Amino acid sequence: MDAILLIRYGEIALKGKNRPFFEKKLEQNIKTALRGLEPFKLIFQRGRFFLHIGGERLFSAQERLRRVFGIVSVSPAYPAEPELAAICQEALALLRNSYFPGVSFKIETNRVNKRFPYPSPEVNSQVGAFILKSGLDVKVDVHQPQILIQIEIRERVAYLFCERYPGPGGLPVGVTGRGLLLLSGGIDSPVAGYMALKRGVTLEALHFYSPPFTGEAAVNKVNDLCRVLASYGEKIKLHLAHFTEIQTQIRLHCPESMTITLMRRAMFRIAEKLAARRGIEVLFTGESLGQVASQTLENLTGIDRVVSIPVLRPLIGFDKEEIVNISRQINTYSISTLPFEDCCTLFVPKHPVTRPKPEELEKAEKKIPLDELLASCLEKIETRTVNP
Ligand code: ATP
Ligand code: MG
Repeated sequence: MDAILLIRYGEIALKGKNRPFFEKKLEQNIKTALRGLEPFKLIFQRGRFFLHIGGERLFSAQERLRRVFGIVSVSPAYPAEPELAAICQEALALLRNSYFPGVSFKIETNRVNKRFPYPSPEVNSQVGAFILKSGLDVKVDVHQPQILIQIEIRERVAYLFCERYPGPGGLPVGVTGRGLLLLSGGIDSPVAGYMALKRGVTLEALHFYSPPFTGEAAVNKVNDLCRVLASYGEKIKLHLAHFTEIQTQIRLHCPESMTITLMRRAMFRIAEKLAARRGIEVLFTGESLGQVASQTLENLTGIDRVVSIPVLRPLIGFDKEEIVNISRQINTYSISTLPFEDCCTLFVPKHPVTRPKPEELEKAEKKIPLDELLASCLEKIETRTVNP
């Protein structure tokens, strides 16, 4: 019999009445992640998933499950006939895989099928004794074993496993709601998107670009970032908003020191309208408090003031270094650091305002036909679907 994958999930077990919904979602997400590796059989039983998948594809599946939020750990499990002799043989084979002289081990049995003739402690000691008599240089350590062999005895089969590979944790994507991620080509916003996905949010992304100042390469970069994010959940809708006109008007007619804050306010207003249209209830950004001059408390609140949709900033308390580390781990760093211009890096003011007064920002905005500009930008948004 082939090995299978035993999949454990975490927090979702705590969610009371929502539990079946969470489990259903996790099941769907696992199947989505395994697309292309068919045929396989995913069986749900007693708070766990058992994935039956043949041969080499088991390793590919295991790799993909590392990106499915909600999964706490995965173990390759080896089946044996549910009888003591077969279990002993399989346990010994398993121990041999990680054997070195003097290694300590422990057997831990879970008798799911209560009609199995031996109680769990009896199985532990019988299997332990069998291994001790095998001639290998091993010892038992029940407190801190170097190899822990777990045995799960079910009706028609017993599973043995000793490795446990960590999953990404979090909640299954799709269980908490829908969010619109303001996605630049930078390092931070993709990480913010990852954090949102990790807490179970279904994401769409909105990117502002400014041709001819930013080229096709900048859009491709954002597309690639979406592709990575999509690999942690499902396909992502990417909305592209043509920002050149708004940006140019702000540049020409508003105080230079306020350009970034004013651009951000325009972006948020458009994002709010788009979110309403898409039935999305919250915005996500990659802002982190105090990271740059435009991310002072006054600037962040000055931006928030123009919208009523809640704005979540998962990175608010992170240092840049911490964000960079995550972006490396999730494979967005190498894309984010490609050299293409972003519409905001083009016109960085020499002395950005750090404590803008709301009246001053409003006064500056009166100098441009803001409503028409926003409406026209919204009108021209293009949407594409990015697959993992
Ligand atoms: P990032 O690394 O995400 O670009 P940052 O530290 O460079 O962040 P800013 O450039 O000030 O910070 O942008 C702050 C946030 O505003 C971004 O994290 C992103 O959510 C949003 N944002 C900035 N530029 C764009 C853009 N061109 N399109 C969509 N959202 C943007
Ligand atoms: Mg940026």
